[in-house]
Amino acid sequence: MRKPKVVVLGAGYGGIMTTVNLQKKLGVSEADITLVNKNDYHYETTWLHEVSAGTLHHDRSRVPVKNLINTSKVNFVQDTVVDVKTEEKRVILENSELEYDYLVVALGYESETFGIKGLKEHAFSIANINSARLIREHIDYVFATYNNEVEKRDELLTIVVGGAGFTGIELVGELANRVPQLCKEFDIPREKVRVICVEAAPTALPGFDPELVEYAVTQLERKGVEFKIGTAIKEATEEGIIVAKDDQVEEIKAATVIWAAGVRGSYLIEKAGFENMRGRVKVDPQLRAPGLDNVFIVGDCSLMINPETERPYPPTAQIAMQQGETCAHNLAVLVRGQGEMQEFKPDLKGTVCSLGHDDAIGVVFGRKLFGSSASFMKKVVDNRALYLQGGAGLVMKKGKFNFF
Ligand code: FAD
Repeated sequence: MRKPKVVVLGAGYGGIMTTVNLQKKLGVSEADITLVNKNDYHYETTWLHEVSAGTLHHDRSRVPVKNLINTSKVNFVQDTVVDVKTEEKRVILENSELEYDYLVVALGYESETFGIKGLKEHAFSIANINSARLIREHIDYVFATYNNEVEKRDELLTIVVGGAGFTGIELVGELANRVPQLCKEFDIPREKVRVICVEAAPTALPGFDPELVEYAVTQLERKGVEFKIGTAIKEATEEGIIVAKDDQVEEIKAATVIWAAGVRGSYLIEKAGFENMRGRVKVDPQLRAPGLDNVFIVGDCSLMINPETERPYPPTAQIAMQQGETCAHNLAVLVRGQGEMQEFKPDLKGTVCSLGHDDAIGVVFGRKLFGSSASFMKKVVDNRALYLQGGAGLVMKKGKFNFF
């Protein structure tokens, strides 16, 4: 009998968790499992703000896919997905094509600029390892340039972060720690450097506990971060950004603008013709695309409504990883034609937002944390994610142990 072909697209949190769980559940004789990823490595997306700020080397945040999967059970294809033809059960890659019986789409997120003029052209975004490295290299370059020009341009030392949501705050936390090192390295007076965080909502970290938000903002301001809250970015230009608060319009000259205020699902979701909202597909409780019993969508390309808030769950690694486990279970049921599929129910343990490697805020199992206890918890969360992906060996190799 022909073995069913299972194809998983993307080796991020959702794709890797699906694959490592599936390889445990199915024997070699039961299915042909193929994992496709653009690069030959998986990266910890949740660490990319550190890579961008230059507080963590990019190699620390990536791991060869072959170290995570069992290559005697899973065929790994390094290639870029360019289209999915669901009617023909085919995936088009840059260099080849694959047929499938069951498909898992786990292609992650892209930056969403909401049509703000000039952002795509003039702002950086944290999209993957290479875009994070570009931000780091760019900051190093403009800081190095400063003292090599006859006329000193202060805008070279101004970094604007668009968005004081989770990613924006984690990024400014790292930048606040990196700036003193940069100043020392490039002979720059600290007071010349500006790190400005611009947020359109009336508060930083909208939706987070107000007491913790106040702690975060105070701590970051103490390290020199300037906040412009209730202020919208209207345009990004070659010189910097134009912002508006009420009727007041201001131009901020900055050589570095990083957009961290919005994500959407992969453009391939739209291209493949799935019903979607900004690249996210509203999946059924078993994580399948509407009307397609053999296509699962996990991670940031999927959308599920939280019945308590009646709003979509935010796209997080926590949910992507849990979806991977459910998806693997459901795939094994379909492949074997026995057992019962599970409905996906997120088990939300909490949220921890770092403010640099030495400080954080969070709510974990309903308890508020801040300072060193939250920072400790953040590292526990990061190490646990490594453990689920690659076991104790991966934790020992890549884990974060600088607890205090
Ligand atoms: P990803 O992990 O992004 O993986 C997608 C994979 O698909 C990648 O390997 C990519 O290379 C591959 N891929 C993409 N396109 C193609 C293609 N065309 N062909 C082949 N391969 C392709 N969430 C939390 O829960 N906690 C946090 O603390 C947290 N911190 C974050 C900090 C930052 C700076 C950022 C940016 C995000 C953070 N998130 C956090 C959100 C979290 O990282 C995402 O929700 C999570 O990565 C989504 O997982 P995924 O599997 O959908 O996609």
